[in-house]
Amino acid sequence: MIPYGRQSISDADVEAVVAALRSDFLTQGPIVPGFERAVRERVGARFAVATNSATSALHLACLALEVGPGDRVWTSPITFVASANCALYCGAVVEFVDIDPDSFNMSVDRLAEMLVLAEQNGTLPKVVIPVHMAGRSCDMAAISRLAGQYGFRVIEDASHAIGGDYRNRPVGDCRFSDITVFSFHPVKIVTTAEGGLALTNDEALGRRLDLLRSHGITRDPALMSKESDGAWYYEQIGLGFNFRMTELQGALGRSQLERIDAFIGRRRALATRYREHLTDVAVRLPPQDGEAVSSWHLYVIRIDSTRTNIDRRHVFDALRGAGIGVNVHYIPVYLQPYYQSLGYRPGLCPAAERYYSEAISIPLFPGMTDVDQDYVIEHLERTVAK
Ligand SMILES: *Cc1c(COP(=O)(O)O)cnc(C)c1O
Repeated sequence: MIPYGRQSISDADVEAVVAALRSDFLTQGPIVPGFERAVRERVGARFAVATNSATSALHLACLALEVGPGDRVWTSPITFVASANCALYCGAVVEFVDIDPDSFNMSVDRLAEMLVLAEQNGTLPKVVIPVHMAGRSCDMAAISRLAGQYGFRVIEDASHAIGGDYRNRPVGDCRFSDITVFSFHPVKIVTTAEGGLALTNDEALGRRLDLLRSHGITRDPALMSKESDGAWYYEQIGLGFNFRMTELQGALGRSQLERIDAFIGRRRALATRYREHLTDVAVRLPPQDGEAVSSWHLYVIRIDSTRTNIDRRHVFDALRGAGIGVNVHYIPVYLQPYYQSLGYRPGLCPAAERYYSEAISIPLFPGMTDVDQDYVIEHLERTVAK
C-alpha cells in the first residue's frame, strides 16, 4: 500500500533520540528549549512553547486568550476535530464559518458577513481559529483586519503548514495573529511522534502558555506571592496541566527540522508533477501558489461532477483496491455525532458539505518515488477519465 502520507526517519534522527535517551534528562532538560529556539528562529516568532500535541497547544492557546464559558470561538468546518474541540474544553461555544470552495480554507467573505450579523445580535466571537488547510495559509492579512475591526483574537491552526509561506514570510511568524500552532504528528511535515508547539510575539501570552503547560507552577520569584521557604520552593499560581514534550521528542524534532527544506522541496516537486500529469482526469486540482505558498501537507483533489458521473466513493474504493492509501480530509466537524448531539445540523455550511462529497487526498510524502506517483496517476486516469 502506498500511504497518503508517511514520516521520513533518518539514521541521524535515530541517533539523536538515542543520545537523548542516554542523557541525564528524559524530560525537562535542555533539548526541548533548544528545539523551541530552532523553530522560533526559523519562522521568526519571539516565543515558542512545545507541547505533547497540537491539540494541547490549541487548548493552551484558548486558555491563554482567556476563552471561557459564554464565549464564542469560530473555526472552519473542514479541519481535524481538534480545531473546534479546544474551544469546547474551555466551556465556550463553537461556530463554523463556511469554506471558500477554491482554497478549502475559511471563507473571508463569509466571515465578514457573519461578523456583521453577530455585531447586530451581540454574538461576536472572542477568538477565530483559521486553519491552513493542506498547508496553504489563509488570507491572514484580511482576517487580521477584521480582528482589528471587530475586536476578536486570532489563533492560526497551522498544524499542516510549517514550511509554508504567506506574503514572502514563513507561516508561524504571528504577524497577523496572536498565537500560531504547529503539529508534529507523524503524517505532518516534521514529526516528534506526538507533539505540538505554540508560537507568539506577545511576551505575556508566551509566559501564560509556558505556565499552563506545566501545572501552573512557577519557580520565578518575581511571580510568587509568598516568601520562599528555601531552594526547593515553587508556587502553583494558576490551574495548569502536564502538556510537556519529552526530551526524546524534542531531540527527534530538532533533528527533523534540519531536513525541513528537503521535505518541503520534495513535496513541492511531487505537487508540481501531479499538476503536470493529471490533465486527462475529471478532477479539480488544488490551488496553485499565490501569496500563500503551500507546505503541501496534503494533496486534495475533487471529483469534478460537471465532467463525470463517477462518484467519490467509487474512485476511493478503486484506488484503495489498487493498493493506493487514499484518504478523505475532512468530514465537516459539525457532522460528527458528538457535534450533532450538541445541536449542529446538516446544511449548516453548504460549501463544506459539497467539498466533503467530492474530496480525496492522494499520496504525497517526501519518501514517495516518481514510480509510486506514476502508479497513482495511471490509476486515476483509469478510474476517472475525462
Ligand atoms: C493534526 C491536526 C491537529 C492535531 O494535532 P495533534 O498533534 O495530533 O494533536 C489539529 N488541527 C489540525 C488541522 C490537524 O491536522
